[in-house]
Amino acid sequence: MAVGAPSLSAARMGLRFLSTNKDLPGGYTDAVSFRQALSMGLAPDAGLFMPERIPVFTTSQLEGLRQAPYATVAAAVLDLFLGDELGPSVISSICQDAYNFPVPLEPCTPDAPLTGQASRAQPGAGNSTFILRLDQGPTASFKDFAARFMARAMERLCERDLTVLVATSGDTGSAVGAAFAGMKGARVYILYPAHGVSDVQRQQLDRCGDNVTALAIDGTFDDCQALAKQAFALSHDDTLSPLARIGLTSANSINIGRVLPQVAYHVYAWLQTGAPVMLIPSGNFGNALGAEIARRMGLPFQRIIVAVNSNDAFPAYLQSGIYRKVSPSKECISNAMNVGHPSNLARFIHLYGGIMDKEGLIHQMPDLAGMRRDLWSVSISDEETIAAMRRAWQGTMPGLPKGTLLEPHGAVGIAALEQYRELYGPCNAVVLETAHPAKFPEAMEKALGHAPRPPEALERMMRRPARVRRMANDIESLIAELTRP
Ligand SMILES: *Cc1c(COP(=O)(O)O)cnc(C)c1O
Repeated sequence: MAVGAPSLSAARMGLRFLSTNKDLPGGYTDAVSFRQALSMGLAPDAGLFMPERIPVFTTSQLEGLRQAPYATVAAAVLDLFLGDELGPSVISSICQDAYNFPVPLEPCTPDAPLTGQASRAQPGAGNSTFILRLDQGPTASFKDFAARFMARAMERLCERDLTVLVATSGDTGSAVGAAFAGMKGARVYILYPAHGVSDVQRQQLDRCGDNVTALAIDGTFDDCQALAKQAFALSHDDTLSPLARIGLTSANSINIGRVLPQVAYHVYAWLQTGAPVMLIPSGNFGNALGAEIARRMGLPFQRIIVAVNSNDAFPAYLQSGIYRKVSPSKECISNAMNVGHPSNLARFIHLYGGIMDKEGLIHQMPDLAGMRRDLWSVSISDEETIAAMRRAWQGTMPGLPKGTLLEPHGAVGIAALEQYRELYGPCNAVVLETAHPAKFPEAMEKALGHAPRPPEALERMMRRPARVRRMANDIESLIAELTRP
């Protein structure tokens, strides 16, 4: 555990991390190491940690990675941020161990150039659609990418037992639970909305491992997130709280240890395709933030498209310049994106020179013109989502071959791409498919009339014993659960 403990020797001090609230009155102005930021989760001023600067790839570094396997690309990305602090060999071994599953990229247009020479030479040319399937990890969602790196980093860096608390709208919880399952000295608690996840997601959440307890709440995902934030605040600020003793660690996308590994697949996608447009189905914006950071590392993305469901706070903000969170958040079939106030938005605002606090209040305006130049965002309804799934399957979605299987989150991305092309014309684009279709059998049935079989890893998980408790939606109940002997 790093807070207050002697840190690594000065020679191993790397990039520092700062709170997004540091310039507000009472802001936390310390520059902390990755190890400190990782174990603190949230900064003491309720801000989010961000790297003090974004390292940039040289052309030859990128060139050297062109044919590299995923784990190598991930290690190269993380090395630029964390190499000085963790050492390249530690990063490399964590990545080799964490990324032991395929990362398939489907060229959806028959003539799509997979190594991207043509499109790299003329980034504007072409109209190919690539689908990057991030669903081959142990819990079949892209959350595995971040969770598996973060769990291994915490295991190596934290010197005392860990109590990890994570609020989830579906996939984060199981990815984090599975990443820590069986890890000695780690206890994990997952808060989830009892009625806000699919049956498959629930079964996964309840069955991560013996050291992982699911807490099902009568409330929304926003309630879960608010409870987790309250618990972290108590454990940091209130020395009398029983939570101060156990030292909580956050594994939500607010933890910088979740953000950095999510940069890597955007880099990987570009290396493979040269496509200048990235389509990100988004909820808490951790994934989109990964793309934004990749762009700032030197990847020539023309547009990062933040595709949301009916929770449209961000597209409305880009359009009007006025931010209003959606409260309560809307229930959509792409349920991992049912977020009324994206927790990573403060980091975007920070990167564009603004300050947004945790309530979503903007204290300093970001460069809105810059955001509008680099980003585009659109809200996709459930009807449009279902229609996109159906048309992709039937072969009537331009650019996708018949039989393309999309689950609701990826379908939001595809539908957004279609609208983007209508407005801005043809472009080569990568759409992230963020989960395996078998995780959403009800939605698949509704759209296609059938549901695909779960992958083997998912079936294995479903056979484990359940470990779940129902919990009232209040902080006292949460404290009682977390401090249970
Ligand atoms: C978490 C999740 C998202 C949203 O990702 P953010 O990083 O929170 O924007 C999209 N799709 C699936 C399947 C998810 O689990």
